[in-house]
Parts: sequence; C-alpha cells; structure tokens
Amino acid sequence: MSLFPQNFASTVSHWQASVSSVVSYLSGTSFVSARRAHEQNRGPSSLYGHNATEPLPSHADYIIIGAGICGASLAYHLTRADAVGHGRRVVVLEAKDVASGASGRNGGHIGPASFLSFPSLIRPISQGGAGVSLEEGVKILENERETLAYAAEVITQEGLVDKVDFWKGYKYEVFTSPEGAQSSSSAYETYLQARYQSSLKEEPYEWALCTDPLEAAQKTRVSNAIAYNRGPAGSVHPHKLTTELLKIAMRSGAELYSWAPVKNLSRFGEGWEVETSRGMIKAGVVVLCTNAYTGGLFPESERGMGISAHLTPYRGHCANYTPPLSYSGPKSLDHSYVVENGMYIVSTPHSGIVAGTWAAATINHGLATRDEIYGILDDSTVLPSVEKWMKGWFERTFEGWNENGRGEGMGRLWTGIMAYSYDLLPLVGPIPNKPNLFAAVGFHGHGMARILTITRGLSQLLSTGKWDERLPTSFQITEMRLSRAKEEGKEVMGGEKWEIVRPVEEPGVGGE
Ligand SMILES: Cc1cc2nc3c(=O)[nH]c(=O)nc-3n(C[C@H](O)[C@H](O)[C@H](O)COP(=O)(O)OP(=O)(O)OC[C@H]3O[C@@H](n4cnc5c(N)ncnc54)[C@H](O)[C@@H]3O)c2cc1C
Repeated sequence: MSLFPQNFASTVSHWQASVSSVVSYLSGTSFVSARRAHEQNRGPSSLYGHNATEPLPSHADYIIIGAGICGASLAYHLTRADAVGHGRRVVVLEAKDVASGASGRNGGHIGPASFLSFPSLIRPISQGGAGVSLEEGVKILENERETLAYAAEVITQEGLVDKVDFWKGYKYEVFTSPEGAQSSSSAYETYLQARYQSSLKEEPYEWALCTDPLEAAQKTRVSNAIAYNRGPAGSVHPHKLTTELLKIAMRSGAELYSWAPVKNLSRFGEGWEVETSRGMIKAGVVVLCTNAYTGGLFPESERGMGISAHLTPYRGHCANYTPPLSYSGPKSLDHSYVVENGMYIVSTPHSGIVAGTWAAATINHGLATRDEIYGILDDSTVLPSVEKWMKGWFERTFEGWNENGRGEGMGRLWTGIMAYSYDLLPLVGPIPNKPNLFAAVGFHGHGMARILTITRGLSQLLSTGKWDERLPTSFQITEMRLSRAKEEGKEVMGGEKWEIVRPVEEPGVGGE
C-alpha cells in the first residue's frame, strides 16, 4: 500500500516556518539573490508547491524519488559539470513539498559522531552492533568528520553561508552520571587504540575529554555535569540548505515536481516505469532517497524483506526555544550540545535554540512506550508527556536558566520521522537484483552528518561505475546485509505499520 497521500496534516517545524534574511527569487528562468527582511520560508521565493500542478514529463534519464536533503544533494552532485547527469534529464519527484520529511524537521545539527559510537560499531550484529572491523569503525567515524568539512566547503563555495545559517564550532557531550562518564572514558581508550593501528594513525584527532566535575559544570553550565567531551560540530538551517541545493541543481537543468507521490515501480527494458498519482514516467535509472518511507515503495509481497526489513521508521520530537536573558547576547550558549539522557541542542544564528530528544531518552524517562516511537510514520502530533518534559528541560538542566517573560522558553514543537538501520549503517548504492535501481537511505537518525559525502559518492558511482573509496565500504547494499535483517530481524510491515521484534539500540549521547 502506498504511504502517500497521507491522511493527516503534519506538524510544522521551526525551519519550515522560519524567517529568512537573505532569499533568492525566481526571475524568468533564473534565480537572483536579494536581501529582504521577514521573508517567510514558505514565501514566493521558496520551492513550496513547485510544479505541483504541471504535467509530468513522459521520460527522464534519472529519477530521484524524494526531495529531502538526500534527494536535493544528489540532484546537486549529479548535475555538476563533471557528473553524468549534467546535460541529461534529471527529475526529482516529491510526494509532498521540499524538505517536508525529516530534513525539514530535524535538529539542524551536523554533529560528527565521536568515539562514543565506536563500541556499538564494532560490537557484533547479533548483540545490536554494526559488526564492522576496527579499521572500518575508524573509517565510519572519519566519514562523519569529513562530512562536516565537506559541508563547509560546499556551503562556502556556493555562497550559501548566510542563506543557510551555517555555523561551525564545537560541541559538548555532557555526562551527568558516573556510568555515562565511565563508558565515555572506556570508549575513548578503545577508539584511540584502534585509531593508532589504523591507516589514520598519523592524522590529528580533535576530541578532548574532561573528567573534573567542577570544570565540567562550570564550562558547560549544565548544573549536574560531571564530565564532558569536546569536539568539532556544525549546524545549519536544514530546510534552507535542502532548498538551496535543489535550486542550484535546477539552474543546471534538474526538474522538481512537488506533490507527485510515487506509488509503484516496475521494470521497463533496462530501466524502470515509475507510477505516480499524476501519471507514469519512464527512466533509465531510479534512485530512492526516501529514507523512512522506503518500505512503502515495495509491493506487499516484498514487505518484511530486503530494504523494508532493514529499516525501521521512528518518531523524534524537536522544539524551538527563546533563551532567557541569562542565556542571551554574550551569555549565549557558544557550543552545540548533547546531554546524557537529555537533549541535543544547537543555537541558531538568528532565532534562538533548537533542541530535540532521543527516542531512547523519551523511553528511558517513561514518557513514551516503544510503540509510540518505533514503527510510526505519523508526524502530525506530539506526545503530551514529551511536550511537558521538554518544556521544563532547560530550566531543570542549565544553571541559572530562568524564564521570566511570556514568550521566553519553548515555542514551536514538532515531530519528524527518521529511519533506523538494522546494522546501524546507511544503505548506499545499487539494490541487489534490481538493475538500475539505486538507494541512499537508512541514516540512523544522523543524516546531516552523513548525506553530503554519501550523495557525492553516489553521484560518482553513477558517473563512473566505481565505488567512491572515500566512503566506508560497509555502507554498500549487499544481499548479505539485507538477508541478515530479514532472517534475524523478523520485522514485518502490515499496512502502514512496521512491527518491530528486534530491540533497537540507540546511544544515550553522541547521536543527532
Ligand atoms: C526530529 C528529528 C531530529 C533530527 N535531528 C537530526 C540532527 O540534529 N542531526 C542529524 O544529523 N540528523 C538528524 N535527524 C535525522 C535527519 O533529519 C535525517 O537523517 C535526514 O533528514 C534524512 O534525509 P532524507 O532526505 O534521506 O529523508 P527525508 O528528509 O525524510 O526525505 C525523504 C523524502 O522522500 C519523500 N518520499 C518518500 N516516499 C515517497 C514517494 N513514494 N514518492 C515521492 N516522494 C517520497 C518524502 O516525502 C520526503 O520528503 C533528525 C530527524 C528527525 C525526524
């Protein structure tokens, strides 16, 4: 059954609604930039409703399904002068509007995972890990570090720094329990040993640890902090970045069709016939950038196997906060944060703070059941228990955070749907036994720190037929990965709900 059109109205995120200071306008067939205060992100210069009623073309060379950050970034890379889509027909089909999925609803954090994730990467799959070698685990973390550097490069080169509110600095990973601090120290030891034996041994490592409780509380301003790690991180307005990358691709000929949900894919010669609610399109190559919604593209007979079995959709909550005076101006938070069993936080350049909860934290605190988080595709509601907890979280967590006036504290609150991957790793490349059908999905709640390099690599693969050696090989979609999830995972999709049998692991800190 197709997951679109959805029978609910999604919540609206801060990013989907927010004000932009610099915008670009469509003038004739080209976009020109101009400064205009108070321009709504949904205003005339946005891509909302773009080609929502225009007839679809009958064919394309490349069809990208999904206009989140993944589809937008792939369209961008595929239409660069040296890529195979340059001068060819590249069509992006989106079920709703640009960045209407997770990409317009996330925390905006480009926070490369630290060594904290290392133990789960090298743990066997049977114990809930990714089951990769030490060398591969080091490469996976290096890929996230490189994605931040690459995001800075692309955003700067394309003149987008102000438009997409890009910030690059440091994040604190804050621990409030002795167990948390201890597991961080031991993950650090394990990681460093692996790194010194890996091909990256000569490269500098930018992370620092502090285990002095006094310094931890003073530096981070988290009242009950007892330790922290500090390493590189960034943030971005994810809706604007998605929109701007798509606009650049469109200037190079890519076409976006909003409100064109794909219902079915069937083989047609060497390529595919793509059935949408607005008609059929034939294409030589189709790429799925549909993340949590990917299972809906496969027929009932294939549900619970292949990619459908590997991915589990789940719901996250985020909110926008206006800091009180004690956290404004020179007293603003100058790092991004992840707080043990708490939230992840970015400070936006223009409009307060955005913070989100981890699924595991909401369950650990008894705010939600697993069934209210995992297997959920509905982003139309927020859980009242989570809302209440998030409302008072900054006051309970940060020293001297006193909300005085009405309008300070939590404002807009929303939900979004992301995709857990059975082995914690993204699925990238050709889909086995489906010639000319590719995917880049399953970012395990961490797409902002992965997608730009993954789509650069996927574009290279489509252009040259060769895997991008800069990407971890463990991201490749293999029959073994897919069959393992089917056999061990026992995840089945009935109607629109995935029933999860295997427990899903999530780090307490270091995720989004
Ligand atoms: C609340 C929340 C907070 C998060 N915070 C962070 C964070 O701070 N940092 C981080 O790194 N990651 C974060 N993530 C994860 C991150 O947002 C995702 O990994 C990333 O956005 C995935 O991008 P995507 O383009 O693959 O998926 P999406 O943005 O979900 O895009 C998929 C698109 O495909 C379209 N689509 C699906 N099926 C069809 C179909 N049949 N036909 C046509 N179109 C279709 C959908 O409408 C959607 O627009 C968060 C996610 C959520 C929900």
